[in-house]
Amino acid sequence: MSSSTVHETRLATFAVRCGNSAGREHIEPGHAHRNPYQRDRERILHSSSFRRLQGKTQVFTGDLGDYHRTRLTHTLEVASIARTIGRVLRLNEDLIEALALFHDLGHPPFGHAGEQALDEILAEGFCHNRFALRIARELEQPYPHYPGMNLSFEVIQGQLWRADKQSPSPHLECQAVDVADSIAYNAHDLDDALKVGIVSLEEASRVSLVCDALESMRQRYGDLTKEQACVGLFRQLVDSQVTDVLTYTESALRDCQQIPFSKLDPTKHRIGASPDFEQQQLDLQQFLYQRVYSGPSMSRARQAARAKIQELFIAYDADPMLLPDRFLRRLDHAGRDIGISDYIAGMTDRYCLQQYALVCSPGSRN
Ligand code: MG
Repeated sequence: MSSSTVHETRLATFAVRCGNSAGREHIEPGHAHRNPYQRDRERILHSSSFRRLQGKTQVFTGDLGDYHRTRLTHTLEVASIARTIGRVLRLNEDLIEALALFHDLGHPPFGHAGEQALDEILAEGFCHNRFALRIARELEQPYPHYPGMNLSFEVIQGQLWRADKQSPSPHLECQAVDVADSIAYNAHDLDDALKVGIVSLEEASRVSLVCDALESMRQRYGDLTKEQACVGLFRQLVDSQVTDVLTYTESALRDCQQIPFSKLDPTKHRIGASPDFEQQQLDLQQFLYQRVYSGPSMSRARQAARAKIQELFIAYDADPMLLPDRFLRRLDHAGRDIGISDYIAGMTDRYCLQQYALVCSPGSRN
């Protein structure tokens, strides 16, 4: 029995089965030891775009210390949470891991500031989920005979759904990753904001999800110092969110154990939190939005990053010969704006600043 067959014997009927994969854009023979989604995972893991996630801002930039998450550690936390959800619900964990490692591959430097800068420049706007698809299909070039990583259709479909969530989701595995993404950033953005000192524990405890988490910790450990409470809060917030999602989703899927995904009712049979809990999550997100993401200290840093990226774009547009050869060659068929934007969006924060100093600083090119 192959390793993928062993893996599949425990899957729920509504899980994606490796043997039913729709394949890849460029046909390839199967692999002796790895199923299609294990191969996808490793193609993503070994890509230069994945490595660059370590130098990309999640929320807090590098000049705010070294405690907080980067886009890479966020991605790994999402993968860990999504795999837990997938294992309990008996979904395809290999597909979930590939989807999770892929989900933020298209984020530009400087987090949402970078996204906003490119969005304002491009006539059709900038969507990091769609940029991830251009990375997968065209920009990464590990193979000599065709462009792209040649990922399975199930990973591509999952990412297409992320770009347009009004469309029906192609499988439950991408829903598991989407839910895990929210769980991770709800918990770690608050954890990072507490550590950086942008919000206090007293302020955060006015949010019901946080208040409930602190109360659960008190019941378990007794009275805690403020420092102990801050350290433990992240774990408790992840645990309470995952527990609610699993309890609610297991109940929603209880009578579906013999039903394939195509026969599920997408309005009822989906992965998600209970309605009350979902409202509590939204309240926490609203708090983070007001106090962290759009607070005054973050706004200043974001405006500076946004201005630099826009200046860099203008400089490349004025003189495309500044682009590396392979990006210069893409301008004709990708379109000038998209071609320049793709080059900038692929940069790490530090490389973007280096290029800005090289290209935009007064006298830099004399
Ligand atoms: Mg994410």
